Amino acid sequence: MKPPRFEYAAPTTVAEAVSLLQQHESEAKILAGGQSLMPLLNMRLTRPGLLIDLGRVAELRYLRETDGGLAIGAMTTKRTVEDSAMVKSRQPLLHAATLLIGHAQIRNRGTVGGSLAHADPAAEYPALAVAVDAQLRVVGPKGERTIAAAEFYVSYLTTALEPTEILTEVRFPALANDTGWSCAEVARRHGDFAMTGAVVTVRLGSDGRCAQSRIVLFGVGPTPLRALAAEQVVIGQKPSEKLFAQAGQRVSEAIEEPLSDVHASAEYRRYLAQVLTRRALAEAAARARGAA
Ligand SMILES: Cc1cc2nc3c(=O)[nH]c(=O)nc-3n(C[C@H](O)[C@H](O)[C@H](O)COP(=O)(O)OP(=O)(O)OC[C@H]3O[C@@H](n4cnc5c(N)ncnc54)[C@H](O)[C@@H]3O)c2cc1C
Repeated sequence: MKPPRFEYAAPTTVAEAVSLLQQHESEAKILAGGQSLMPLLNMRLTRPGLLIDLGRVAELRYLRETDGGLAIGAMTTKRTVEDSAMVKSRQPLLHAATLLIGHAQIRNRGTVGGSLAHADPAAEYPALAVAVDAQLRVVGPKGERTIAAAEFYVSYLTTALEPTEILTEVRFPALANDTGWSCAEVARRHGDFAMTGAVVTVRLGSDGRCAQSRIVLFGVGPTPLRALAAEQVVIGQKPSEKLFAQAGQRVSEAIEEPLSDVHASAEYRRYLAQVLTRRALAEAAARARGAA
């Protein structure tokens, strides 16, 4: 199908883009890489009167190191993240998660900010952002503010962004050297959205016990789901297959109403969440042991 008729604006600065959003609030929509928005337009599931294309806003394309972590401009493509030696060495979890997103063509166009702002529950970046406590910088008519990833995801395709605000940057803090990580998912085919996935980090103490752990599921509910109860199962314990199986069991109990759609039933997603948590914990713990 073809998209409905819309006006098009191509600002060259964030300030100009915000001003356009302010003038056309309810009928305007930001266009980043178009990899999610264009299909929605073509299916006429959204009908904005104006598209504000951020493609020429050069100030939103960068990837740099800050305090050992990374600051990434919203219009930076996933391909840039994938190809970055800095990401590979500083944030290997981000590199691994990027490789799981769609196909090369989608990563060529799709942006970091687009993924985070679109808030698809099956997307890797939102879950990763929650798992590592990423900070999202947004700019609107009243100036800028920073929102913790955990506060950013409100509901299905819904974030804490005001209609006149633009996501401009994400900051991924540095992972400690002794932190093991894993991003595990099950998708129907390579390049498809995950039916369910898990982003996990594990840090081992000098006594070999799990000192810290983060477990965040995606594709099971309307937003990334932090599995606090499962984290508590793991923390303070020696890593073992039995322990990780218990954590997986706790995850499956904690998911109240898993999504159910044409791709997977709620029960299958609950099962996948359990298995993926177990696998991801084992992989993360092995990496943590290797790094220790
Ligand atoms: C076949 C296929 C497979 C895919 N598989 C995956 C996958 O496995 N995992 C995955 O995560 N994604 C997947 N995607 C989606 C892809 O990652 C998109 O690139 C991403 O979801 C949106 O990024 P974008 O830059 O294309 O944003 P757009 O499509 O341009 O925008 C998406 C939404 O975010 C808003 N938006 C964009 N940027 C900003 C900003 N800076 N500030 C405020 N609002 C903004 C837009 O207004 C729009 O509502 C897939 C897409 C396709 C077509």
